[in-house]
Amino acid sequence: MPQPLYIRTHPRDNVGIIVSEGGLSSGTSFASGLVLVDAVPEAHKVALTAIGRGEPILRYGVVIGYAAAPIARGAWVHADLMRLPQPPNLDQLPISTAIPEPLPPLEGRTFEGFVNEDGSVGTKNILGITTTVQCVAPTVEYAAKRIKAELLPRYRNVDDVIAITHAYGCGVAIEASGAEIPIRTLRNLILNPNLGGAPLVVSLGCEKLQPEKLLPDGAFPILGAKPYVVRLQDEQHRSFEGMVTNIMQMAEERLQILDQRKRVTRPASDLVVGLQCGGSDAFSGVTANPAVGYAADLLVRSGATVMFSEITEVRDAIGILTARAANQEIAHELIQQMAWYDRYLERDAVDRSANPTPGNKKGGLANVVEKALGSVAKAGTTAIAGVFGPGERVTKNGLIFAATPASDFICGTLQLAASMNMHVFTTGRGTPYGLAMAPVIKVASRTSLARQWPDLIDIDAGSIATGGATVREVGEQIFQTILDVASGRRKTWADHWGLHNECVLFNPAPIT
Ligand code: CA
Repeated sequence: MPQPLYIRTHPRDNVGIIVSEGGLSSGTSFASGLVLVDAVPEAHKVALTAIGRGEPILRYGVVIGYAAAPIARGAWVHADLMRLPQPPNLDQLPISTAIPEPLPPLEGRTFEGFVNEDGSVGTKNILGITTTVQCVAPTVEYAAKRIKAELLPRYRNVDDVIAITHAYGCGVAIEASGAEIPIRTLRNLILNPNLGGAPLVVSLGCEKLQPEKLLPDGAFPILGAKPYVVRLQDEQHRSFEGMVTNIMQMAEERLQILDQRKRVTRPASDLVVGLQCGGSDAFSGVTANPAVGYAADLLVRSGATVMFSEITEVRDAIGILTARAANQEIAHELIQQMAWYDRYLERDAVDRSANPTPGNKKGGLANVVEKALGSVAKAGTTAIAGVFGPGERVTKNGLIFAATPASDFICGTLQLAASMNMHVFTTGRGTPYGLAMAPVIKVASRTSLARQWPDLIDIDAGSIATGGATVREVGEQIFQTILDVASGRRKTWADHWGLHNECVLFNPAPIT
């Protein structure tokens, strides 16, 4: 029987996290002298001191809640015993008061990528077929299946053919406030570096989101002189077969261009890495997220772009981030994004306990404050160099806040639109999540999950909790894995099995 184990995340904390696999029974005593007075599940909190009613519960050295009843030393501190603190007031935040000094640059780290005409670099070489409206989605999916079976095997340098389908494009208030978000998301998805600047657009003909609106003049030098747009309602199409033949012919022209591309050695500064978590547990903030944070620092030191997102999961830790903003303008941009989302949630009276999920709670995360403090560890320790709105294309290097909801596929889709070419995803409860457009490296917060799902989890950060590995060791492993996967030398498990979640748009505007 291994020594029973808990960890205190910060010296000020009055709760610890149970590390022992499967949890511990009442009466268990620890080397520190602490004795459990309740059974405490794995990853859940134990009171390290007696906590009186109304007194603060501290984790990460920060108040994550107030005791709803007296809590004995050694008791299980579960969600029902905690009252939720108010979110930080956006008018009283520290503005650029703790700007981190730049870390020493890291030279000579490279990967093998596909260089695009617009200067961006792909980690995959994919033919993307985009759609202006849901009406054409099944037709495009049918055509894509045939392109994959009949054409793709002849073009060995092309990795994949993907249909970018969605529920948008018609029956929507296309000029309403907020409609710019789904439209620019679709536009910027086509510009993702992994699509090689050779997309194909399929339109119905009568929809609200006309190709001209999706692809405005001048925004698409990469499309070249000939617009690769197929309109299904055009006179020339006399049958469904005719439509499919037309799509396949255009696809073949694009495949010929993509096939001529070869991987070349590029500096790590060409990477645009999106960070996300999903199915988090109480270990996420101690193991996987700090290790990803270490990797984020290595990437920033290499000159790369690193994006963190998920507004609802940083909202309660916003004061840490505004203090770290590289200048006051960036701090105010962060606050603007939080304020916009506060109003968006208030409009529909979303309650603050809607996040965390039941799974998060089972994994020991009592509330959104505890989740947020663990979540921001992914962003490492460098200054925040820029802020971008949902679906905007990120055009800066360094650590960037790319505003998105926390929903896994919506965040992933918006990060792809922001020009992400590599994705790192941390999970505690586990998810088989993946994306077709960019590789997704999955990092487990618990060794028990990595063991349970050896053919879905790419990196196990759980050993950090038991002392088997350090944050630095796992962080370096994540960085090296990013370079290997970006170069096509190593495949993620999600790509091995072809597990690709759909692109899901964020549409805060009305549906008509
Ligand atoms: Ca998420």
